[in-house]
Amino acid sequence: MSDMIPYGRQYIDKEDINAVISVLRGDFLTTGPSIEKFEDSVAKYVDAKYAVAFSSGTAALHGACYVAGINEGDEVITSPMTFAASSNCILYQKATPIFADIDKRTNNIDPVEIKKNISDYTKAIIPVDFTGQPCDLDEIVKIAKNHDLIIIEDAAHALGATYKNRKIGSISDMTMFSFHPVKHITTGEGGIITTNNREYYEKLLAFRSHGITRDRSKLSEDHGPWYYEMQFLGYNYRMTDLQAALGISQINKSDYFLKRRTEIANKYNQGFTNIPEVERPYRPEFNSNSWHLYVIRLRLEKLKVDRKTIFEELRNKSIGVNVHYIPVYYQPYYKELDYKKGICPNAESLYEEIISLPLFPSMTDADIKYVIETVKDTVLRFSIRG
Ligand SMILES: *Cc1c(COP(=O)(O)O)cnc(C)c1O
Repeated sequence: MSDMIPYGRQYIDKEDINAVISVLRGDFLTTGPSIEKFEDSVAKYVDAKYAVAFSSGTAALHGACYVAGINEGDEVITSPMTFAASSNCILYQKATPIFADIDKRTNNIDPVEIKKNISDYTKAIIPVDFTGQPCDLDEIVKIAKNHDLIIIEDAAHALGATYKNRKIGSISDMTMFSFHPVKHITTGEGGIITTNNREYYEKLLAFRSHGITRDRSKLSEDHGPWYYEMQFLGYNYRMTDLQAALGISQINKSDYFLKRRTEIANKYNQGFTNIPEVERPYRPEFNSNSWHLYVIRLRLEKLKVDRKTIFEELRNKSIGVNVHYIPVYYQPYYKELDYKKGICPNAESLYEEIISLPLFPSMTDADIKYVIETVKDTVLRFSIRG
C-alpha cells in the first residue's frame, strides 16, 4: 500500500468518456440539448418538478439566495459544520450568516438552536445534510412555516438520501446538489437547484445567464425575433453541454454508487464495533444516509494522544484521511467580520475529534480492510487501555 488511498474520488468509465466525446463532435458545447436532459434526469431522480443546472454548487447556492430575495439587512441561519460555500452564498447577497449549533448526535444543525437564533431580520434557513445524513426536516419545515422563512437545503452530500421515505430534493423550497469530483456524481465542476416552485425555477434560469430572458410573454418591449431583455443583474453561471452529458451518464450509475457507498459504510460500522476509542456515525432510524463521508469521532478521553497524532499516523500509512469541517467562522475572513470562537460549542468540540476515512465507489474490498485494520491498530497503540 504505497499509493495514498484518497478520502474521495470520482468514478469515470468508458460510457462517461464517450458521452463527453459525442458532445465535442456535435453542435453545442454549451447550453445545448444535454443541459435540459440532465436537469430532467436529476429532477426525476429526486422527485422534484424542476431543476436548474449551474457551473458549480456554490453558484447554485448563490442563485437560490438571489431568488429567495435574500438581501442586505437580512439574516440567514446555517450550520457552522460545513464547507464555506453554505455561508458564503449569504455574504454574496450582502446578508448576514447566523451560525446555529449542531446536534451532538447527528452533527446536523439543531432545530432548537435554529429557533433560538430567529430574529425580526431572519429571512431563510440553509440546513446542511452533513455527510449525506438528512437534517431533521419536519422540524425545520415547521419552524420555517411558523416564521415565514425560506428553506434552501445544502444537499451537496445527500444525492439519493431519503428523509422518512421522501427523497432529498423535493422537501425544502430549494435544494442544492454539487457535482464536484468527490461528490456522488460528477460533472467536473457543477451544481443544481431542484424545486417544486415554478417562479423560483424561471428566475433561476435567468439568474444563471445574466438575468436575460427571451420569453416573449415576459418582455417589456418586442423589437423582433432577435430581441431579448436583461431584466435584472444575473451572472454567467452556465454549465457546459460537455459537463451535462457527463452528468447524464453519471446519474445513470447513481444507484450503483449509492449501493457501493452504503456497503463500504456498513463494513466500517462492522469493523469498528467494540472499539471504544472510535465513535461511529449515528443514524436516526427514519433516515437513509447517502454516505458522502464516513466521519469517525475519536473518544479522546480514551486516548493518550490528540486527533492530530492519529491523523498523521494514518497519513503515514497511506490513508488519505481528512477533516470535515473546520467550523466556518474560524476562517480569517469570518473573524474579520467579528464572528468569535465559542458561539457553537458542539461544533467546536466536534472539530477537535473528527477524522474522515476514505469512502468512494471504486474502493476495493482490500482497501476497506486495510483502512479498518490500520485505524484499529493505530487507536489501540495510543489507547489508555494498552
Ligand atoms: C461541495 C459542497 C458545496 C458546493 O461546492 P462546489 O464545489 O461549488 O460544487 C457546498 N456545500 C457543501 C457542504 C459541499 O460539500
